[in-house]
Amino acid sequence: MSEIKTQLVVLGAGPGGYSAAFRAADLGIETVIVDARDTLGGVCLNVGCIPSKALLHVAKVIDDAREMADHGVSFGEPKIDLDKVRSWKDSVVGQLTKGLAGMSKMRKVKHIQGYGKFTGANTLEVDGKDGKTTIKFDNAIIAAGSEPVSLPFIPKDDDRVIDSTGALEMKDIPEKMLVLGGGIIGLEMGTVYKALGSQVDVVEFLDQLIPAADKDVIKIYQKYVKDKFNVMLETKVTNVEAKKDGLYVTFEGKQAPDEPVRYDKVLVAVGRKPNGGVVDADKAGVKVDDKGFISVDKQMKTNVEHIYAIGDLVGQPMLAHKAVHEGHVAAEVIAGQKHYFDPRGIPSVAYTDPEIAWVGLTEKEAKEKGVDVETATFPWAASGRAIASSRTEGMTKMIFEKDTGRVVGGAIIGINAGEMLGEIGLAIEMGADAEDVALTIHAHPTLNESIGLASEIYEGSITDMP
Ligand code: FAD
Repeated sequence: MSEIKTQLVVLGAGPGGYSAAFRAADLGIETVIVDARDTLGGVCLNVGCIPSKALLHVAKVIDDAREMADHGVSFGEPKIDLDKVRSWKDSVVGQLTKGLAGMSKMRKVKHIQGYGKFTGANTLEVDGKDGKTTIKFDNAIIAAGSEPVSLPFIPKDDDRVIDSTGALEMKDIPEKMLVLGGGIIGLEMGTVYKALGSQVDVVEFLDQLIPAADKDVIKIYQKYVKDKFNVMLETKVTNVEAKKDGLYVTFEGKQAPDEPVRYDKVLVAVGRKPNGGVVDADKAGVKVDDKGFISVDKQMKTNVEHIYAIGDLVGQPMLAHKAVHEGHVAAEVIAGQKHYFDPRGIPSVAYTDPEIAWVGLTEKEAKEKGVDVETATFPWAASGRAIASSRTEGMTKMIFEKDTGRVVGGAIIGINAGEMLGEIGLAIEMGADAEDVALTIHAHPTLNESIGLASEIYEGSITDMP
C-alpha cells in the first residue's frame, strides 16, 4: 500500500473530472485524478458522447447516400464492414483519450488508475491494477458520474440484452431490435442501427418521445421517423423472456401488441443513475440521497466544506457540457476565486435524424415555473437552404418573455439543429430580446436564418426571405 498527499484529489475522470483537474492545475493546485478506467474521458469520451457521434456520422452518410438516389445520384446499397466501422469508432475515441493524456501530463496532473472510495474526511483509498494507494487530500471533487439503469424483469447475463455501452460495441447488426425507452440515448442508438440495417421498434412509457422537450417539436420528429421506427407510445414492457431463438417481449398499454414479440436484441435505455452512493462519500461526511445524487450549492460545494461534487451525480441534465462548467467552477472556488455555476440555459441536443435541440426554458417549463411567455416559430418548409437540402421537416421555435420580449428559450428540430443552437444560447445569456436577434443580419441562405426570421415574425414583420 503506497501513500500520497495532495492538495486536490478528483474522483472520476469524465468531462467534469478532467476539466476540474486541468483548471485546478492551471491555477497552481497540486492535483491527482483517479479513475477506474485506464483512460481519461469518462463515460462521455469512452462509451458515450463521442463513440455515439462517430457511429451517427456513419449512419448519416448511409442515409444521405440513399436519399441522393431521389436527386439523380445513386451509390448503390452500402456494403457494411462492421469490423472497420468499429475500429474507426475506436480510433476516434483513441485519438481523443490520447489527447487528454497528453494534456494531463503537460499540466503535471497525476493520474491514478483504480477504484476509489472515501475512508474519511481527508482520505481516499484507491484499489488499482498497480495495487492500493491511500491518498490524503486537502480538497476533493467527486466526479464519479452515472451508470445505466437496469430493469428487474430483464434477463441478466444474456448478451442479447444490451445497454448503451453494449450498443456501442457493435458486436453485430441484429435483424430486429427493441429500444426500450424513447429518450435521447435510445433514439441515437436506434438511428445508428436502423441505418446499418436493423428493423427498430421503440417503446416509451410516456405520451411522447424525448419527454423533456416540447410536444410541438417532438411531434415533427415522430412524424418524420414514423416509417423508420415502429414507435409505441404510452406503452411499457412488462416481461422479457429469453428463449433460444430470441427475446420474447411482453408489452402493456396503448400501443401494446397482443402477443409477445420476438427480438434479436433489446437495448435498455431507460435512463442513468448517479454514482454518488458507490464511492462511500458518507464516510467523508458527504450527504448522498436515496437515488445517489449529492446536493451542492452554486459553488459546487457539498455539505462538507472542502469536498465538492460535479457532473451527472449532482443532478439533471446529465450532460457533458454541464459537467465541464461545473468542474471549472469547483476548481476556481478551491483556488480562492468567487465563482458560481449559475447558467441561464443549458443546451440539450439529440443527435438523431433530424436533430432535436433546445436551450433555456421550454414552453412547458415556463408554464410550470409561472413565467409568462410567447413563442414564434419559423417552419423550414419556407427556408431556401432547407428546401435545397431536401430537408424541409424542420422548425425553429423562439420563446420570449411576454413583458420584455427577452429571449428565454428556443428549440430547433432539423438537420444541424445542435450546431445552430449556440446562437439562441448566447442570446439567452446576453439578455437579448427579439429585436436584437431580428436585427442581427444572418447570412443567406443558411438554416441559421430561421432564428432571425422567427424573431422577426415575433416582432410583427412578415417574412419576405425564402
Ligand atoms: P462520467 O463521464 O460519467 O465519468 C465518471 C467517471 O468516474 C467514469 O470514468 C468512471 O469510471 C469513474 N468512476 C466512477 N466511480 C468511480 C470510483 N469509485 N473510482 C474510480 N473511478 C470511478 N452528454 C452530452 O452532453 N452530449 C452527448 O452527446 C452525450 N451522449 C451520450 C451518449 C451516451 C451513449 C451516453 C451513455 C451518455 C451521453 N452523454 C452525452 C452524457 C455524458 O456522457 C455525461 O453527462 C457525462 O459523461 C457526465 O460526465 P461526468 O464528469 O459527470 O462523469
